[in-house]
Amino acid sequence: MRYVCRICGYTYDPEAGDPSQGIAPGTAFADLPEAWVCPVCGADRSLFQPESAPEATEEGPGGRVVIVGNGVAGFTVAWELVKRRRGLEIHIAAEERYHYYARPQLPRFLAGELGIEDLLFYEPSWYEAQGIRVWLRDPVVRVDREGRQAELRSGQILSYDWLVIASGSRPATPPIVGRELSGVFTLRTIDDALAIRESALDAQQAVVVGGGLLGLEAGKGLLSLGLSVTVVEVNDHLLPRQLDREGGEVLQRLLEQQGMRFVLGNSVARLVGMDRVREVHLENGQRLRADLVLISAGIRPEIELARDAGLTCDRGVIVDDYLRTSDARIYACGDVAQHRGRIYGIIPPALDQAQVVAANILGEKVEYHGSIPTASLKVAGIDLTSVGDVLAEGPGVEHIRLMQPEEGRYRKLVLREGKAVGAIAIGFRDQVPRLLQIVAEQADLRSIRRELENPDFDFAS
Ligand SMILES: Cc1cc2nc3c(=O)[nH]c(=O)nc-3n(C[C@H](O)[C@H](O)[C@H](O)COP(=O)(O)OP(=O)(O)OC[C@H]3O[C@@H](n4cnc5c(N)ncnc54)[C@H](O)[C@@H]3O)c2cc1C
Repeated sequence: MRYVCRICGYTYDPEAGDPSQGIAPGTAFADLPEAWVCPVCGADRSLFQPESAPEATEEGPGGRVVIVGNGVAGFTVAWELVKRRRGLEIHIAAEERYHYYARPQLPRFLAGELGIEDLLFYEPSWYEAQGIRVWLRDPVVRVDREGRQAELRSGQILSYDWLVIASGSRPATPPIVGRELSGVFTLRTIDDALAIRESALDAQQAVVVGGGLLGLEAGKGLLSLGLSVTVVEVNDHLLPRQLDREGGEVLQRLLEQQGMRFVLGNSVARLVGMDRVREVHLENGQRLRADLVLISAGIRPEIELARDAGLTCDRGVIVDDYLRTSDARIYACGDVAQHRGRIYGIIPPALDQAQVVAANILGEKVEYHGSIPTASLKVAGIDLTSVGDVLAEGPGVEHIRLMQPEEGRYRKLVLREGKAVGAIAIGFRDQVPRLLQIVAEQADLRSIRRELENPDFDFAS
């Protein structure tokens, strides 16, 4: 059986094994070592699923589920439902013109390393075989909660027993003067990447606004297209949500070695040009030449449909511990959902939430108590993982660091009252699975507290 990475779409084929990690041909997925990670994106084994959904075993009373959005959250709800229950009718309404694809691979698509067919998880025939009806380029434009009906842009009316709002998010665009100039982009979809690629054909200098996860990945994509790339970040170090200053500096050094440039602790005042952008003016008066600007300044959950339907919304659609919205027939999950005040904006929580939504549609009454955020970045050979509360401070909190900047390595473990609550690992791929596990379990490490200080301490052994 082949297994697919739910982050990037890489398929593990037992017949081929994984020579890059010394896995011999003929090794079944179940027999892979614990330290094995996705060779493309660095995701750990728990983020893989069998390529084909197992045959559903449960019979049920039936009913119709309409899912708004075919990103990872919407797709996973459908997958979990077909896997478990015969007799449900499943519709997915999709605004984009493509079937479910690996959004995290967009920077490599942008760089020209992958084609559209490499991004797609399944062929259209797969959906037909599973009995999932996908309405491409036909978004839900209105929800009639009284009549339990969703109206698509084409005019098609879909009645539902359960509605799932998985409409994701869009890039946030701060009100920067000049953002409407040509040559200024955000990156969220295949079509965005196609437009950027076309514009890059006659561009030389790119400025990326925002040194977060997506900004760096997109910057690397632009670098591969032959552009010179400068990243402008308002904080004084990179990945301010996932890394501390020391980690940010190690990452910056590694990216600089690949040719990326950085302006930190500064923000963009305006974008300047006649028709196309030509310069970026910073708050401190500095000017950067740019004929392509990519704004990567966070996300804005796509709540419009839910708000117009009268559902309770804040920054996202508010959900309870069953991931129900303020209407018990309507669930929300993924980037659009706000649970206990939190919007995650990454894939692992979207997967957790989608599983809970599917289980609750099947009547199981499963509660969701939040996810431990994990970010993995794998750009041009840099393995970086940040898990849990890596920026915790205060009484009872200890930081145990191993710094090897010359080798491009950094490891930090955060303990609260002796328990592991967060970890950063740059260049320690073998140790990542164990670090993820001890943070997930909030393992009590007091008995080995002194050993942890030893630079040779290896979490993998
Ligand atoms: C370039 C890039 C790289 C990333 N890399 C990583 C990574 O390495 N690791 C990680 O964990 N996360 C990463 N992310 C974030 C991750 O992609 C998101 O967290 C994830 O896609 C959220 O899934 P979702 O299904 O909630 O929303 P989305 O993926 O945004 O999907 C929602 C879909 O719903 C559609 N839609 C919206 N409104 C409607 C409507 N009314 N009707 C029908 N359809 C509608 C949208 O067009 C969209 O296709 C990355 C994101 C980007 C853009």
